[in-house]
Amino acid sequence: MTCSECGAPITRESSFDLGGGKNLCSSCFINRAQERRPLSKDDLARLRKSVQRESAGPVPRTILEDILHDGLRRAYAGKEDTPAIVQSMADEIERLATLAVGRQVIDVISALQKSLLEEEEEIRRQVKRVADLE
Ligand SMILES: [Zn+2]
Repeated sequence: MTCSECGAPITRESSFDLGGGKNLCSSCFINRAQERRPLSKDDLARLRKSVQRESAGPVPRTILEDILHDGLRRAYAGKEDTPAIVQSMADEIERLATLAVGRQVIDVISALQKSLLEEEEEIRRQVKRVADLE
């Protein structure tokens, strides 16, 4: 991966994704920001999209939108109390967020467990090597 402006090697963590396949290293990003020219409509739209993507929560936005659409549809149908609909939407979002965060925690624990097992294996190997030397 290289900077779209100066061609310097960059990583996803050290670069700024402007969208549309444009990635800038931090110095090009700062230079760009210091030009003080007004951002074009395209620049703004790309920046907004990029910020939205980076700040996404654990529950995908499309799922949240589905829940809200469903709630609105039920509210317009007028067969249920609005507070009950709001309550059930909040319950569903809470349940999904809990599941999503739980899944992230399990991923972290699994990665940790894997690296501990590898370390344990390495220690066993070294202990065996020391025993073989004696
Ligand atoms: Zn650059």
